[in-house]
Amino acid sequence: MAKKLWKKPSIIVINIGKCRYCQKEMINTESFVAFYDEEKTKAHYECMRKDDYKKLIEKEKNEKRLSQN
Ligand SMILES: [Zn+2]
Repeated sequence: MAKKLWKKPSIIVINIGKCRYCQKEMINTESFVAFYDEEKTKAHYECMRKDDYKKLIEKEKNEKRLSQN
């Protein structure tokens, strides 16, 4: 009977490009998101979340400004 050689599954790390927010190179083992825009940009999940939060705050500021008039 032949001995079976167990190989550890190799993790293939692929560079997936730059994050659209922080401009850092990303690898596929990080959590990231892909956008459906023309350039198919990608970003860290964390960076996107931070950006969404920023937008939300900006939106609230604008709404407050409008309601004051
Ligand atoms: Zn990033």
